[in-house]
Amino acid sequence: DEDESLLHGAFDDRSRKASSREVGVLAVVGRPNVGKSTLVNRILGRRAAVVENTPGVTRDRVSYDAEWAGTDFKLVDTGGWEADVEGIESSIANQAEIAVRLADAVILVVDGIVGLTASDERIVKMLRAAGKPITLAVNKVDSQADEYLTAEFWKLGMGEPFGISAMHGRGVGDLLDEALDKLKKTEKTSGLLTPSDLRRVALVGRPNVGKSSLLNRLAGEDRAVVNDLAGTTRDPVDEIVSVDGEDWLFIDTAGIKRRLHKLSGAEYYSSLRTQAALERSELALVLFDVSQPIADQDLKVMSQAVDAGRAIVLVFNKWDLLDDFGRQRLERLWIMEFDRVTWAQRVNLSAKTGWHTNRLSRAMHTALESWDKRIPTGKLNSFLGQLQAAHPHPLRGGKQPRILFATQASNRPPRFVIFATGFLEHGYRRYIERSLREEFGFEGSPIQISVKVRE
Ligand code: GDP
Ligand code: GDP
Repeated sequence: DEDESLLHGAFDDRSRKASSREVGVLAVVGRPNVGKSTLVNRILGRRAAVVENTPGVTRDRVSYDAEWAGTDFKLVDTGGWEADVEGIESSIANQAEIAVRLADAVILVVDGIVGLTASDERIVKMLRAAGKPITLAVNKVDSQADEYLTAEFWKLGMGEPFGISAMHGRGVGDLLDEALDKLKKTEKTSGLLTPSDLRRVALVGRPNVGKSSLLNRLAGEDRAVVNDLAGTTRDPVDEIVSVDGEDWLFIDTAGIKRRLHKLSGAEYYSSLRTQAALERSELALVLFDVSQPIADQDLKVMSQAVDAGRAIVLVFNKWDLLDDFGRQRLERLWIMEFDRVTWAQRVNLSAKTGWHTNRLSRAMHTALESWDKRIPTGKLNSFLGQLQAAHPHPLRGGKQPRILFATQASNRPPRFVIFATGFLEHGYRRYIERSLREEFGFEGSPIQISVKVRE
């Protein structure tokens, strides 16, 4: 009898648990309509990556925690990028790029019914250049009688093509055995691309909030580009940027600088990049443009950062454009949108003039200290004991749930597990979070509290 409830639904518990045991990141790539999403759904065993037949439909989820035959891995779906006719090449290039950046190994899906196409060959070329191990899946081979469809794909020179039916599950097991075997053997680059002694920062926000401007302002002349991924792409991935005389590793600065606005699916793609950057970072600087009304996409990016469990600093940029009236309006209208992150510090600044950019550094440190923090079990329990004595849980049906014991299961971000004699109401859990924050100071970091019921 276990009630494990997350406060705020702060972040994805599964992804956190799995990450330490995961053997690596596997991306599913291929042209549109070959069946990538169907395959991802099949692997996940649920309809997680919604299959849409409508072109241009954007999907939010990008990577999933997957498990196959006792092996945990991260599965990246690149299928949400829907290309228009002219865009098809750039779509494929982007997918391959994502796969290269994010993944340790790749499943390339081709369409057995359509047969080998020039686009397939180009993808192979790009993936090869990146040096990631590839397993070739010839999809839509729905029965044994269709196996002959795989024959022409030997031409790609990638070894045995696996005839599969993503739709019916046929052959998917053998495919995964092979792909995971390669994944286990390959040297991991995802998540390990960065100089380990620098703290990793993602600069995120919807287009035009001023990310590039802030990056330029901070980096000035004095910038060092790292990780050109063994020469596989001309774009630098990360940059060492000095903030107030101290070096930080800014993640995927190439993605920040790139102009994507005119491409179809740009929003999906930028959300994909944001997620990828967040996954590799420890701290997120979430930028907003105070001269504009707050947009859904602003809130979405903020949620992505919170859900990823990152330390957070809210950056209110373009402050130079606000007059008195604008400031009042902002305090009234915007602040309501931020009740999910009342614990985050906010820095008002202007990337353009440089005003207050010197305040970033301290906020970044505070957030990371909170994110790293560990509360000793003894201290935690004596604090919760006092809290409970002063404010016991309200009676429920004549019974009073009691906290038995608590421990901080992990940090980065802090995660607490409370053992109680009964279900703790949402309000009471919020009260516990508030009190923990007051007592121990978790400014700038999400914290997670789960409750386990023990009779
Ligand atoms: P994506 O664009 O690569 O993600 O492709 P989807 O997963 O959206 O699939 C494209 C179309 O191919 C859909 O209409 C699917 O129903 C169909 N499809 C996917 N897998 C199979 C399969 O194994 N056999 C057959 N016959 N059709 C499939
Ligand atoms: P990104 O798409 O988030 O990288 O945004 P950019 O850095 O390209 O900025 C978008 C626009 O906002 C550009 O025209 C910038 O000059 C302008 N901008 C950025 N920061 C500021 C600022 O602090 N004040 C003002 N007035 N404009 C800014």
